[in-house]
Formats: sequence, structure tokens, C-alpha cells
Amino acid sequence: MLEAHALRKTYARTVALGGVSVRIDAGEIVAITGPSGSGKSTLLHCLAGIIRPESGEVRLDGRRVDTLDEADRTKLRRENFGVVFQSGRLVPELTAQENVALPLLFNRHDRARAQLAARSWLERLDVAGCADRRPGELSGGQLQRVAVARALVTGPRVVFADEPTGALDSLAGERVMDELAGTVREAGTTLVIVTHDNRVAAYADREIALRDGVTAEVTV
Ligand code: ADP
Ligand code: MG
Repeated sequence: MLEAHALRKTYARTVALGGVSVRIDAGEIVAITGPSGSGKSTLLHCLAGIIRPESGEVRLDGRRVDTLDEADRTKLRRENFGVVFQSGRLVPELTAQENVALPLLFNRHDRARAQLAARSWLERLDVAGCADRRPGELSGGQLQRVAVARALVTGPRVVFADEPTGALDSLAGERVMDELAGTVREAGTTLVIVTHDNRVAAYADREIALRDGVTAEVTV
């Protein structure tokens, strides 16, 4: 379903990805693991069409993603993907509920229905009490739950999550992972999750390990 072949991405003299190939099937939960700086976020961003590799190919259902221009990649992301960024990246001026409704509004959903859907996702993730608060008024755990709700609200085919539990204590991290993994399993959604935490990787069907921008080992 999602395939990358020989991805290469460099920043100045840093080789972030030195020729990585991966294949992810529909409905799989795949963990991308590796030490800090090994290229995990860069790989996730290439797979999600957020950045373009210098060389190599990314395909969704056989169609090239990396050759699309910015506008087409944005459209493809909005229609197919949900992303939980490493740092949450909610819009600070909007309430939690407005943040979750935003992807639906981008996809031209009716405003009132988008707000209702956002509210119900906040309920599912146990943060309905935060609906009217802005990101600056939320704890790390609450922010991550809101970010997860925002990634799931459109019913995406693939969810990408970059260290979604990185800023959380182990109990809060486990709750976020239970909800995220439970929801994608139930919906048959594909989940690609970056982590350096073995307990998070344990939720995955399969692990892709990176070291210095190359695939170190693939545990099946
Ligand atoms: P990880 O997520 O595994 O910590 P990254 O993909 O963020 O790794 O980074 C891989 C390498 O690329 C690191 O050496 C990092 O410093 C470098 N890098 C990533 N993003 C940038 C950037 N925007 N500018 C410069 N260097 C970057
Ligand atoms: Mg990272």
C-alpha cells in the first residue's frame, strides 16, 4: 500500500537517510525505531509527503507521492493521512475542539458537523473537558490526546505518529497508545509510529529499525 524505495535525504553534510526502502501493508501497525538522529522523523516525513527526498521514490497504492508538487501533496495528505507530530503542533489561537475540527473544515465539511465530530473524538480520547481550552492551557498528556483526535477525525487510511508518547510519563503514554492502537485496529487503519521506546514498539506488528539513516535490521 505504502512503499518507499532507496530514499535519500541530506541536510548540509548530514545524511539523514542514506538509501532506505520500506514497504507497509494496509492495516499494519509498523514501528520505526532507532536512536536519536538516526533518521526516523525524516523517514516519516518522506512517507507522509511532508518533505521530498532528494532521490528515491514514495508510492501510495502504486502512485508516486514524492513527485507531486506541494499543493497536490497537501491535498493527498488531507484526504488520506492523519499526522501526530513529535511536538503536537496544535494551532495556539484555537481551542482544542477547533483544532480537532480543522482537518474536516479543510476537507470542506459542514462547520456544525465538524464541531460535533471533533467533540465526539475528544470524548473518545477522554479529553472532552478540554474542548474549550487553548493548547497553552493543556498538560502534555492532554495535548497529545488532542493531537491524536485531530489525526483520527477524518478517518484517514494511514496515521503517522512521531514519538506520540515522548513527552509523557509511562502511564499517560500507555493510555495514549492504548487508544491510538485500539482505534486503528478497530478501523483497519494503517499506523506508522516513530518511537525509541520499546513499550511503544510492542504495540506494532513489525519494527523497522534505523541506524545512521539506513535500515539496521527488520524484525518480523
Ligand atoms: P530522529 O527522528 O531519528 O531523531 P531525524 O530524522 O530528525 O532523526 O534527523 C536525522 C539527522 O538529520 C540528524 O542528524 C538531524 O540532526 C538531521 N536533521 C534533521 N532535520 C534537519 C533539518 N531540518 N536541518 C538540518 N539537519 C536536520
Ligand atoms: Mg525525530
